[in-house]
Amino acid sequence: MTTTSSSTIAGSGLGLFDSHAHVDGPEFDGDREAVLARARAAGVKRMIVIGAVGDPSSAERSVALAERDPDIWATVATHPHDAAQMTPDWWATHERLARHPRVVAIGETGLDYFYDHSDREAQRVAFARFIALARSVDKPVVCHIRGRDNKPADGSDAHAEARAILAAGGAPALGCVIHCFTGTPDDARAYAELGCYVSFSGIATYKTAQPIRDAVAQVPHDRILVETDCPYLAPIPERGKRNEPAFVVHTARVIAACAGLTYEDLARITVENTHRVFRIPT
Ligand SMILES: [Zn+2]
Ligand SMILES: [Zn+2]
Repeated sequence: MTTTSSSTIAGSGLGLFDSHAHVDGPEFDGDREAVLARARAAGVKRMIVIGAVGDPSSAERSVALAERDPDIWATVATHPHDAAQMTPDWWATHERLARHPRVVAIGETGLDYFYDHSDREAQRVAFARFIALARSVDKPVVCHIRGRDNKPADGSDAHAEARAILAAGGAPALGCVIHCFTGTPDDARAYAELGCYVSFSGIATYKTAQPIRDAVAQVPHDRILVETDCPYLAPIPERGKRNEPAFVVHTARVIAACAGLTYEDLARITVENTHRVFRIPT
């Protein structure tokens, strides 16, 4: 049984919304119900499960979770890591599931020029096509955007390219989340100016992540979300463990301080923001 100081937060009655969790994955097959129970006990009352890892079985699993739990909603897409592997069958699955009433967004999709697991042109093409799918079903887009570093030697800029693709596809009008933000403070401001929401993960709690903490101050309060991206990126003091939705409380504490908000206000505002961008009634 994991016990954290989050139990005291649950006692305050405040809720949090984990805007990006991969609890559909095999990492949780052994104890998924216990993980969801710990989230609720920690006050993490709702979550968006991202069905986008590997082939579309991730999307199918996420939709199945959302169908049986009224506090879980799903997204569907193929991660940019796997964009080059996409087949017509994968697209057909996403196009079918995108219309499902428990699917609240298309994603995660985008550009990952850090790992370059898929050819960059394949990533750009899939990203634009997923935005077009989002437009056709009138749902928001969850974006994964990662550059090689802040000043890549090859001159590429994943974040600038992403903003151009998002703007061209009309994504900001649909609702657009830049998840697990890892760009510069200037990038954060540019995304907010474009009308995007910016979601912060456990990375923001790491000692070396001062630029990400600085980025929080560049995002208007009504555009900030928090997430785990579990099972990856567990926040301090849980770093090194498998991440899980209950741990988002630690990230929320750090983001509140960076945003100049009390924990209570940050919790309330990020829950409202998450409901607004995913168009989930409160
Ligand atoms: Zn991601
Ligand atoms: Zn993710």
